[in-house]
Amino acid sequence: MKTYQLYIDGRFVEPQGGEWLDTVDPYRGDVWARIPRANATDVSRAVVAAKRAMTSGPWASFSASKRGHIIRKIGDLVVQNAKRLAEIEVRDNGKLLAEMHGQLDAIAQSWFYYAGLADKIEGSFIPIEKEGTVAFTSREPIGVVAALTAWNSPLGFVAAKCAPALAAGCAVVVKPSEFASASTLEFAALVGDAGLPDGVFNVVTGLGHEAGSALVEHPDVSKVTFTGSDTTGTRVYETAARGMKSVSLELGGKSPNIVFEDADLDLAASGAISGIFGAAGQMCTAGSRLLVQKSIRKVFTEKLVDLARQVRLGDPMDSQTNVGPIATPPQYQKVLDYIDVARKDGARCILGGKPATGPGLIGGQFIEPTIFTDVANNMRIAQEEVFGPILSIIEFETDEDAIEIANDVAYGLVAGVWTNSIGRAMRMSKALKVGTVWVNTYRAYSYMVPFGGMKRSGLGRESGIQAVDEYLETKSVFMSTAADARRNAFVMR
Ligand code: NAD
Repeated sequence: MKTYQLYIDGRFVEPQGGEWLDTVDPYRGDVWARIPRANATDVSRAVVAAKRAMTSGPWASFSASKRGHIIRKIGDLVVQNAKRLAEIEVRDNGKLLAEMHGQLDAIAQSWFYYAGLADKIEGSFIPIEKEGTVAFTSREPIGVVAALTAWNSPLGFVAAKCAPALAAGCAVVVKPSEFASASTLEFAALVGDAGLPDGVFNVVTGLGHEAGSALVEHPDVSKVTFTGSDTTGTRVYETAARGMKSVSLELGGKSPNIVFEDADLDLAASGAISGIFGAAGQMCTAGSRLLVQKSIRKVFTEKLVDLARQVRLGDPMDSQTNVGPIATPPQYQKVLDYIDVARKDGARCILGGKPATGPGLIGGQFIEPTIFTDVANNMRIAQEEVFGPILSIIEFETDEDAIEIANDVAYGLVAGVWTNSIGRAMRMSKALKVGTVWVNTYRAYSYMVPFGGMKRSGLGRESGIQAVDEYLETKSVFMSTAADARRNAFVMR
């Protein structure tokens, strides 16, 4: 069994309190590693190191191009270690190895992308209206960044947050989820080899209400970037507000996947399946509400059930597996509880609806792909995030109905639209109150395209050029060029 250490100021160190937390392989159900339980003192050491790195360390004086070179090397190291990192993440959270291979490729590309952006962060010279005065702006790193991440894609979140933060010239302290911290600590072991100075990248692991809240509260943290549930996100936002910190939040969803009668129904069915059963539904972007037009509801539901019956559950390391285990015991229980809630509220279970058992399903955390019909949009199963392989089918008649139902939730992360009408696709894209719309596709991501939520799904955007802005502040400089600058000191110019 591996025992990890905290990564602070360029070295691995023991937690000050001498305590560790077990980390469980969700497929096998055994403890495979121990991660340090950091306390407020450990967090403070990491933040102080990050602040020092940003103010007096070599990082502060590096040119933007030099920062870019180092970030590029981090991407190279991700490429060289991709297989190992992928396997560790699968061990930690039960994601499919097949999916992790693709994700590691995108993660490396993301580091390369922000490496290229580091020396394209520019201010502007503004030709202002005042004679004898010039004005210009510069874009400055916002300060020490606290990056708090969820368990479902730890390395993806590190790239999405830290690559633009480092490109901007910030230093970061990452607090990964206590359920899946190993891959982030393994990644930390690489950054020194890339030439990143001590203190620029730190990892403190531990519990959310201990290490996490100590990090958000720390007075020397200027920016909090958080991925997780909206409940925790709200708490983080409130705490950060007291310290007047800048905040980005990537939170949950209850996303509509909308199938119109004019769609390619085979394509739509496979999109609906991957949208809810991919990653066992443990995606912020899960298409958990399937809105189906009344005229095709029967035929489409049959197609869907046929496809869902073919889903292969099993070992996430096996390339033949489609769906792995639920990642954590509390999450497993939560999914089962929601199945009960849906039944009690009157939804009809037409597939699954119970724990999955059988050969190869060890560890006790599998749930059958589950489909409910007769779901009304005001039921809890249609309004609350489950984060599991549970699909609710909701019927609609007109485009207007679809828009109303789709938008009638607290969340606004993503939506899928399946239609062969360009006009309808455009009208829906405009009307849906979500951060991302997928037309005739689902789960399409790119590190080049902004991603984030509206409403309770969050604040700010990750990915794309504008993600760097989340880690910058603009400074304006006015400078007198007049030969004789004397003037009445009591009159504003
Ligand atoms: P969570 O909110 O329980 O935890 C997220 C992180 O916050 C963890 O690191 C946790 O330790 C920490 N934390 C917990 N309490 C804290 C506190 N009081 N102060 C500071 N930090 C604290 O979420 P989770 O269960 O790890 O992840 C699942 C959630 O994440 C789902 O709601 C999912 O939709 C969301 N998510 C969103 C996105 C997105 O990009 N929008 C991506 C993936 C997951």
